[in-house]
Amino acid sequence: MKEHGEISQESLAVHAGVDSNEYLAVVPPIYQTSTFAFDSAEHGASLFSGEREGYIYSRMGNPTVRGLEKCIAALEGGYDGLACGSGMAAIHTTFATLLSGGDHLICSDAVYGPTCTLVETILSRFGVEYTMVDTSNLAAVKEAMRPNTKVVFVETPGNPTLVITDLQAVCSMAHDRGAQVVVDNTFMTPLLQQPFRWGVDVVVHSLTKFLNGHADVVGGVIILKSEQQYAPFRKTLNQLGGVLPPFESFLVHRGIKTLALRMQRHCENAAKVAEFLEQHPAVEWVRYPGLKSHPQHELACRQMTGHGGMISLGLKGGLEAGRKMMNAVKFCGLAVSLGGVESLIQHPASMTHASMGPEARQRANISDGLVRFSVGVENVNDIIADLDQAMAGCAT
Ligand SMILES: *Cc1c(COP(=O)(O)O)cnc(C)c1O
Repeated sequence: MKEHGEISQESLAVHAGVDSNEYLAVVPPIYQTSTFAFDSAEHGASLFSGEREGYIYSRMGNPTVRGLEKCIAALEGGYDGLACGSGMAAIHTTFATLLSGGDHLICSDAVYGPTCTLVETILSRFGVEYTMVDTSNLAAVKEAMRPNTKVVFVETPGNPTLVITDLQAVCSMAHDRGAQVVVDNTFMTPLLQQPFRWGVDVVVHSLTKFLNGHADVVGGVIILKSEQQYAPFRKTLNQLGGVLPPFESFLVHRGIKTLALRMQRHCENAAKVAEFLEQHPAVEWVRYPGLKSHPQHELACRQMTGHGGMISLGLKGGLEAGRKMMNAVKFCGLAVSLGGVESLIQHPASMTHASMGPEARQRANISDGLVRFSVGVENVNDIIADLDQAMAGCAT
């Protein structure tokens, strides 16, 4: 956003979207209201016609929600944002804005499970054609392109395999053919990856994860680059209705104030945990973009400004050992979701990616033995000690 000019992201996280208010409260108030009164019939009419700016009804816009939208747009270097009731609502609203029956969508095969299910079971009913591909394989993306391809949807690093897609290369390929690129930036947050810098057209996030960071809100957001691009998205969200309520917006905006601190700690802790896991005798393999052993480590260093808080691993004892480990952790929580201050461990094949079915999982390299770990901001020695005792019975 213009008024923030040269301010760093760390400072934007604290200040962006905090507008002045009637009583000069340092923290913007929660406008817990469904509707806003008009001064007069003429005033109401001018708000509806767009002649005057202001608020009408909270599905169409609310000051507390607007503050959050402006904050995340500033962090992404975008024009403006749309807060949605969940990450899935943000992804659905994006597809509903950009795609019509007969259009073709290319989607990363390693995506959040429900994104895959949305494409395969719901969009397809509305006549949207799709191809799920490994978007880290540029030849595969090229081959999947059709004359009616309108959108390439990329999640990078992919969930839960942490495979990385070259955004600049995919954008140039898509733009050559008149398609737009949408990136799910949930795993990185705007602090570790800014997709607009690489030519991406639309950025979506689940606010539920790192952006809110405290595991107490479900939300999502869409960020656009220009006013022209923004208007049709706002219209679609207004009709579909999947908006974020004011209280949730307040909580997420509050969470973002510490985003820079949290992401720094997530990255530091995850790097140490990944190194620990890599040398543990019970561990068969570890995927973390910050490890030199990650096949796309160089791309990760070029495209991202940090390697994030997510690790996936496979134990030598496979699924059975993974189950043992998940049942043995004490300090780390056994739960889906990620990006909160607390460390969480889960098993994608039976949990987050169960809805995809075995074929889609195999295509996306999500093995039955894969364990996903969201590294929290606790003292890293405590995290490592817990993992170590939990794997004691797994060593082979
Ligand atoms: C959680 C998640 C989503 C969905 O977000 P919800 O807020 O749960 O609807 C989408 N993409 C990624 C990468 C996620 O981790």
